[in-house]
Amino acid sequence: KREEVPFSVHGINPELVDRRANDVVRTLQDAGYEAYIVGGAVRDLLLGLRPKDFDVATNATPEQVKGLFRRAFIIGKRFRIVHVVHGRGREHEVIEVSTFRAYLDNTAVEQQVSGNERTSKHALAGMTHAVDASGRVLRDNVWGPQEEDAVRRDFTINAMYYDPETQVVVDYHKGIQDAKKKVLRMIGDPATRYREDPVRIIRAVRFAAKLSPLGFELEPKTAAPLVASQSLLADVPQSRLFDEMLKLLQTGHALATIATLKKLGLSRGIYPLLDVVVERADSPFVTAALQDTDRRVNEGKPVAPSFLLATVLWQDVREGWEQRLAQRQHPFPALQEAIDEVFSARIGDVSGRGKLAADMREIWVMQPRFEKRVGSTPYGLVEQARFRAGFDFMRLRADVGEVDEALAEWWEEFSTGDDNTREDLLDQAR
Ligand code: ATP
Ligand code: MG
Repeated sequence: KREEVPFSVHGINPELVDRRANDVVRTLQDAGYEAYIVGGAVRDLLLGLRPKDFDVATNATPEQVKGLFRRAFIIGKRFRIVHVVHGRGREHEVIEVSTFRAYLDNTAVEQQVSGNERTSKHALAGMTHAVDASGRVLRDNVWGPQEEDAVRRDFTINAMYYDPETQVVVDYHKGIQDAKKKVLRMIGDPATRYREDPVRIIRAVRFAAKLSPLGFELEPKTAAPLVASQSLLADVPQSRLFDEMLKLLQTGHALATIATLKKLGLSRGIYPLLDVVVERADSPFVTAALQDTDRRVNEGKPVAPSFLLATVLWQDVREGWEQRLAQRQHPFPALQEAIDEVFSARIGDVSGRGKLAADMREIWVMQPRFEKRVGSTPYGLVEQARFRAGFDFMRLRADVGEVDEALAEWWEEFSTGDDNTREDLLDQAR
C-alpha cells in the first residue's frame, strides 16, 4: 500500500521548495524523527506550481518539535500544531508542523458508541477519535502512524508526503496516479467523509474550481453525494463556514468557482452570504469585483475580503440608504443606519469580524464624500488610511456607469498629483 515514488516518476522541481520548509524538515530528521512536506504543498509541487505555504508532518510530538526551534509556538486546542516562525515583521514566514494523527473509521467508532450511550459524554470521553451521533469528528488529537495520518486526509492528491532530502514522495492512496489522470478523488467512502466533516463539501468545490484550469475534475463517486450531504453544513459553526466561504472566493478562479457551484447543484444553501454572491455574480459590478480579486490572487497580491463583500452588499446599502433619504433623514446618519441594517441582515454577528466590518463600512461611507470636491475635503480624504480601497471601489462603480467616469479620473489625478495640480483640479471642479 505504501509506495515510495522516486524523482524519475514524480519529477518535482526542488527549486520550488521553500528553503525554510527544507530547513525545518532537515532539523527534525537530524534529531532522529521522520519529517516530510505534506498536503497541499506536495499537490502543488507535483503540478509544477509554487506552493503558497508549506506544511510539515512528523512523528515528533508538538513538545518535541517546539524543543528543536528557537521560535516555535504550540497552537490550537482541537488540532495541536506547532508554528515555526522565521524572520520578523511583514516578511515573517510560518511553517506549520503537525504530528501524524490516528484515524479510526466510522464503523469502528460506531461499535464503540452504541445504543443510547451514543451521545453521552462518558462514551465519547473514552474514545480515541470521537465522532458525534451524526458521524462528525469531534476530537482529532491522537497521534498515530503515517499510514493513518494519510487516511484521515481528504483528497488523494492532498495526502502525499515529500522528503526533500531523498526526493521521495510517499503515497498511500494513488495520489500520483490521480494527479496524472487529473482526478479529484476523496479517500474512503465519500458520503461518510462528508458526514465526518461537512466542510469537505466546500473543499471539494474549492479544489474542483482551483484545479479546473489544469483540467481536473471531481471523480463521479466523489461528486455524487455532495447535494444530499449539503444539509449537514447546518451543524458547522458559522465562523468556520464564513472562513471557508472566503477561501472559496479567493482561489484565483472565483468565477470558475461559481460556475462549479451551479454545475454541482450547490448554488444555494452552503452559507447565506455565499447565496448572495452567487445570485449577484452576473451583475457587472460584482463580476468586475470577482475578476479583480482573481487578478490580484494570480499576481500574488494580498486580497482584502472586505472589498469583495462591500461590492456584493453595496446594492442593499444603496437601497436602504435611498429609502431613508426618501423619508427625509439626513444623508450621513441614513447611510450609517442602512449599513447597520445590512450587517445584521447579511453578516449576522459581526463581533468576531470587527476589522472586516469596519473596513467595509469605511469603504461605503467614503462613497458620498467623493462627490464633494470643495475646500479641504479632498485633502482629508486622500490622507485616509483606507483611501485606496474606497477609491478602487468608486473606480469600479465608474466602470459600470454608476458614477461619472470623469469623477474617477479626477480623483486618480488628485490623489497622485502635486500641490499645484491639486489646486488646479479643485478650481476645475468648482
Ligand atoms: P491550499 O493550497 O488551499 O492551502 P491545502 O490542501 O493546503 O490547500 P489546507 O486547508 O491548508 O489545504 O490543509 C492542509 C492539508 O490538511 C490538506 O491538504 C489535507 O491533507 C488536510 N486537510 C485539511 N482540511 C481537511 C479536512 N477538512 N478533512 C481532511 N483533511 C483535511
Ligand atoms: Mg495549505
